[in-house]
Amino acid sequence: MLPYASVQDAETAIGRSLTAAETLWFNYSATKSDYFLYCHNILFLFLVFTLVPLIYLFIEFVFSKNIIPYKIQPKVKLSFADNLNCYFDVMRMFLLVVGPLQLVSYPSIQMIGIRTSLPLPSLLEIISQLVVYFLVEDFTNYWIHRFLHGKWGYEKIHKVHHEYTAPIGFAAPYAHWAEVLILGIPSFLGPAMVPGHMITFWLWIALRQIEAIETHSGYDFPWTFTKYIPFYGGADYHDYHHYVGGQSQSNFASVFTYCDYIYGTDKGYRYQKKVLRQLRDGLNGDEKQNGESHAASAQDNKSE
Ligand SMILES: [Zn+2]
Ligand SMILES: [Zn+2]
Repeated sequence: MLPYASVQDAETAIGRSLTAAETLWFNYSATKSDYFLYCHNILFLFLVFTLVPLIYLFIEFVFSKNIIPYKIQPKVKLSFADNLNCYFDVMRMFLLVVGPLQLVSYPSIQMIGIRTSLPLPSLLEIISQLVVYFLVEDFTNYWIHRFLHGKWGYEKIHKVHHEYTAPIGFAAPYAHWAEVLILGIPSFLGPAMVPGHMITFWLWIALRQIEAIETHSGYDFPWTFTKYIPFYGGADYHDYHHYVGGQSQSNFASVFTYCDYIYGTDKGYRYQKKVLRQLRDGLNGDEKQNGESHAASAQDNKSE
């Protein structure tokens, strides 16, 4: 809720005219409580979990022939019913864990100082903070994920997320309830270290999930803008982690590739890429290669 009765009051307080975006924010948020604004995340997450995988599903069913070269594991095809079942499982978790977690975590948002006030942050401020959030999340998630691949963590918790050896968009948030809670920590750490505006926080929560859905989509499209982000892992990178499954000691990072490179946990993936390149060169561009994808890999780095 904003401490101004009118746009004029707000302009007097910040010493200049409001921008169009600020006027819009004033009109929308002035009479709404900060708690209510924070809870918008529940709606945004619901929309992201529903609509973004639906776009992938739509493309898959309508353009299946055209996009098959970009499917990472083309031999695996889940039916519409499989997709629907996965979505219902995710929604059950959403209602029982994700939603309630949002409802009760507001005091922590208050404590770290996420603001709803005017002026709005500049685009540069928003982008800089989002970069920090992604870097902090990636590093923390890497270590938690790696821990979850220990015997206890995998058997008790992480195994659920790995039920999909050829992931689909809907399966991005598909996980044990404990994993959903634990992986909330890396998402929260960035904003705790560099607190920003509520709009930046909304964007962060939505973009992180959209990124997770892309990396679980099962498709590696060459035209996505994420291809231009330095050290970005992407769908092929994380798909390999699922393909190898429980024994995987490769590709733990959620967003970027540098952690796996630094800590030496990308050897299996790099070996697979090397083998695929050699096979491709050997076959002189024979398209048959596309159908083999991860299966052409001799082994994951199980020896690590
Ligand atoms: Zn894993
Ligand atoms: Zn995954």
